[in-house]
Amino acid sequence: HADIAMYRAKKLGRNNFQFYTPAMNEESLERVRIESALRNAVERDEFVLYYQPQIDIKSGKIVGMEALIRWQHPELGMVPPGRFISIAEETGMIVAIGAWVLRTACAQNKAWQDAGFDRLRVAVNLSARQFGASDLIENLATVLRDTGLEPKYLEIELTESLFMSDITPAVDLLHRMKALGVNLSIDDFGTGYSSLSYLSRFPIDVLKIDRSFVADITRDANDEAIVTSIIALAHNLKLAVIAEGVETGEQLDYLRRHGCDEMQGYYFSKPLPAHEFEQLMVEGRGLHPEQTMAPEDAS
Ligand code: C2E
Ligand code: MG
Ligand code: MG
Ligand code: MG
Repeated sequence: HADIAMYRAKKLGRNNFQFYTPAMNEESLERVRIESALRNAVERDEFVLYYQPQIDIKSGKIVGMEALIRWQHPELGMVPPGRFISIAEETGMIVAIGAWVLRTACAQNKAWQDAGFDRLRVAVNLSARQFGASDLIENLATVLRDTGLEPKYLEIELTESLFMSDITPAVDLLHRMKALGVNLSIDDFGTGYSSLSYLSRFPIDVLKIDRSFVADITRDANDEAIVTSIIALAHNLKLAVIAEGVETGEQLDYLRRHGCDEMQGYYFSKPLPAHEFEQLMVEGRGLHPEQTMAPEDAS
């Protein structure tokens, strides 16, 4: 237990001492285990990317995908991002992991384009730690050059937390990212620090409505109001809007009727390993025509 106590002491700062309870012990142990396993995960090739399709609601066609990391550890099994991304962020390991994600996603998308599939966008999540790294722009430019992916087929997903502190360097960085030709989106929109002033100052292309709002749109009047307001806000600012976490036909129908541009969610598909995503493209799968139309339009 000495290492756990030391680990906690280190986290709390030199002059802090804390007794641990069995519950804390359990949690710290898991953290320590994940943290040490993470150190070798990139070299050991334990990460894979899954791809979740993004559908244009009007045409019903796949127009993009979000790359989502999965960690297959020999003993811990499949570790979901919810269990390791925050640890990777706190320890700084997310910078190396994120660089791997970016390169892999761009290379995969370029390979699909070269194989003759319709050209799709790939969205990659960027953590605050990567956003703060001094070589972000250079790294992005290098990956685009090395993989040959045209920048317009890359979208970088940012979260509102990036904009909480000092806004001026963030504006500058975003402009430098845009200058490379990539698209920028705000992930989990509405759950963070949503300052309306940054939306007009930042060169953003897309708002992603958080799935917590989408979940209850057909049942909760407040969530309905939030979702329709986000759609209107996006369109008034000339941004595209995509709904995350669409699980039912009713939700899709609601979003379609309210002019939401794109959807992503289990209703169409879960995130898929590359070969399964490829299968979707081979089959030319999209939404069925009746899924892109509300009942009242059909008459
Ligand atoms: P996110 O970027 O908001 O990604 C969407 C999450 O919602 C994914 O969870 C996805 O599997 C899940 N999802 C999609 N459709 C549905 C649905 O219809 N219903 C439900 N219940 N869930 C749905 P996942 O893959 O577990 O990722 C969780 C979070 O981990 C991501 O949220 C993102 O914040 C982070 N993450 C994942 N991959 C990366 C990465 O490569 N880099 C960084 N920095 N963060 C990542
Ligand atoms: Mg995302
Ligand atoms: Mg999200
Ligand atoms: Mg998220």
